Amino acid sequence: MNLKTKLQLLEKLIPNTWLYQMQYIHSSLLVQWILRWGSKPLVFSQKSAIVFSPHQDDETFGCGGMIAMKREHEIPVIVVFLTDGQGSGSSEPSSQEKISQIRKREAVTALGILGVSPSEIHFLEKPDGTLQDLKNEERQQIIEQIIELLKYYKSEEVYVPHRKDCHKDHEETYKLIQKAIAQSEITIEVLQYPIWLLWRAPLFIILKLQDIAKAYYLPITSVKDKKNRAIASYISQTQSLPHGFIKQFLGTQEIFFKAES
Ligand SMILES: [Zn+2]
Repeated sequence: MNLKTKLQLLEKLIPNTWLYQMQYIHSSLLVQWILRWGSKPLVFSQKSAIVFSPHQDDETFGCGGMIAMKREHEIPVIVVFLTDGQGSGSSEPSSQEKISQIRKREAVTALGILGVSPSEIHFLEKPDGTLQDLKNEERQQIIEQIIELLKYYKSEEVYVPHRKDCHKDHEETYKLIQKAIAQSEITIEVLQYPIWLLWRAPLFIILKLQDIAKAYYLPITSVKDKKNRAIASYISQTQSLPHGFIKQFLGTQEIFFKAES
């Protein structure tokens, strides 16, 4: 039984309220440690950006402050959603279709608050929860779509979920973008944003010191209210996610990890 399986078993055995409390304490300690000792300040850049988000909310949780700051300076920001977000509803097809539409609308609202217009948002609509199980052909098709977007927008920075983000779709998103960058042979700065990593990763077991060495923090105080309003507009998600989990993203800094491109 590997470490991830053991952790999943442990998650099933502990009552949810205790588990969330423990995870909140754990993630808060880890965030404080990274912010105080384990990271360097990220200089706000004027570079245009493209943000790849597995689900409708990850981009706002992980990069909402960065997006709002860039847009306030009229720097182009493109947001691309890989999945349709159906996984957060019930398994009934009609309800899945409904949740997918709701999440799309919430994404447009949230990104509107952050300054991104609907024409700068792309939905690739792959089935939620399946990115890791795609057949080679489907996989290559998404990579081609990503390459097309990278070449069309010529963004200077790309934002992706952390490569060890403790969620299948998130980790696969990282791999797909890295493959697309390699195949397109473009040069672009890659920044990883953590969503589940600091919540689920046992202290220093999944996150190695060499990963933390690449941590940077971006102060987002000036746009914090905008980010918090954008998060609040994801009503379907804020009602179902643990309270402590959302709290991680309401602070005055965002954490990013630089990656080899
Ligand atoms: Zn997600």
